[in-house]
Amino acid sequence: MGQLTTYQNYIDGQWSDSVSGETYTITNPAHKSQVLGRFQRSNNEDAVRAIEAARNALDGWASTPAPQRAAILFKALQLMEARGDELARSITIEEGKPIGDAMGEVKRSMNITEYAAGEGRRMFGNTTPSELPNTVAYTSRRPLGVVGIITPWNFPLAIPAWKIAPALICGNTLVFKPASATPMTAVALTKIFEDAGLPPGVLNLVTGPGGSVGNTIVDHPDVSGVSFTGSTEVGTALYTRATQTLKKVQAEMGGKNAVIVLEDADMDSALGGIVQGAFGSTGQRCTATSRVVVQESVYDAFMTELIERTSKLTVGDGLDPAMDIAPLSSQSQFNTVMEYIGIGAEEGATIAYGGNPRTEGDLDEGYYVEPTIFTNVDTNMRIAQEEIFGPVLTVFKAADLEEAVSITNNVKFGLSSSIYTMDIPQAFRYIDTVETGIVHVNSPTLGGEVHLPFGGMKESGVGTREQGTEAINFFTEPVTVYIDYSSAARA
Ligand code: NAP
Repeated sequence: MGQLTTYQNYIDGQWSDSVSGETYTITNPAHKSQVLGRFQRSNNEDAVRAIEAARNALDGWASTPAPQRAAILFKALQLMEARGDELARSITIEEGKPIGDAMGEVKRSMNITEYAAGEGRRMFGNTTPSELPNTVAYTSRRPLGVVGIITPWNFPLAIPAWKIAPALICGNTLVFKPASATPMTAVALTKIFEDAGLPPGVLNLVTGPGGSVGNTIVDHPDVSGVSFTGSTEVGTALYTRATQTLKKVQAEMGGKNAVIVLEDADMDSALGGIVQGAFGSTGQRCTATSRVVVQESVYDAFMTELIERTSKLTVGDGLDPAMDIAPLSSQSQFNTVMEYIGIGAEEGATIAYGGNPRTEGDLDEGYYVEPTIFTNVDTNMRIAQEEIFGPVLTVFKAADLEEAVSITNNVKFGLSSSIYTMDIPQAFRYIDTVETGIVHVNSPTLGGEVHLPFGGMKESGVGTREQGTEAINFFTEPVTVYIDYSSAARA
């Protein structure tokens, strides 16, 4: 612990300790004994300081022309690229995911920053004919104001970036509370915006517990909006609480994403997409594939090949580029995943592959679990209904598309889904009836492109979607303007 770095909050352009002076440490999920750093355990007072700094910086930033704000984002983009290897390493040692996935996360963060910077020269309103003579009618956009950014641990760079970059280009000032488990990458991202020349107070970072820092942001009257990503449980409570003070809220939450494989599917492509979707990033993606529904005529052949491919996946430290599956991100994630595997077995499902921790050699230093496949799953079982958030896949049989869609929709979540088929009418019937915010045909349930809306239906999301022009809609208030140039008194 002698050489341990202490990381600080960033408030009003200054790196500073929490008011209480309290700190906490985090460890590498691949090597539990490796302590990565000491971070500020901030409280209500720190959050209030950050909100005040953001409020004081608001007029200056909101009145900075959007193309000038964009210039700072373009500079941040360059810094992200220059520091890409360092950022990816930070993601892997802090969250655990394989280094290739971490590099993908850096790229995604760059893409959204580039997209948001480009919006600095668009940010269009509408002009429209007025119903009155000699009158001009148009809309313009204003920043929301001070916005709280509250993020989960599973994408410690990309999710903050896809909220912060659009929020900044729209002229808002921010209080950023990252997940307590992943503050290190949050510090690195904040440093990038500082080095890119963001004025003091525009972006403020406060690390510490959701219960104190998070709730202060959610309750404070000077905060006009909250952009949250995390669990449905926390998101629902946060939404209910924040809307009490009429804040604008977007909450992107959990998922239970399913893939349908019809009998005419390209099996190689389907299996590749499902293995990647279920076990890539150790299943800890909100868009991870957690259910597969296979048409019964091809079920046996599909299962044989799925197990064959899964058995070839390598498990180990995410820093080793040869590893397909890295550790779960924490002891509590490990406990949750093992608990669900136990629940599935108790409920009567069959473990067709995996089901155990991996502890051989130095794997006992981390939170490793075998990729796990359940068959004979009933749709009412907890493993069929609840988000597990680990490398666990449940497989169902269906007679036809209608039954497969019914199984897919029979959950409270509605984030992402996919179908593998070459049958165009069936694909369109699926697109029209599946209850998810993101729909894939012949591609995995994963990810999304930054210029398109991202988010879910049902208990997966509430409020305006993220990314693309939807993000600009969320982070601005529309103002409708009528100008009467007739110089005549209105009748
Ligand atoms: P979480 O426990 O809900 O936490 C998310 C964030 O909320 C963290 O920063 C957390 O702080 C904070 N928080 C906790 N209690 C709070 C409160 N009372 N008020 C305000 N903030 C509070 O979620 P997680 O475990 O970090 O992330 C995993 C979840 O995120 C999964 O359910 C996953 O599906 C979901 N997710 C969804 C998407 C999407 O776009 N739909 C993307 C990625 C992840 P602490 O860390 O200090 O508790």
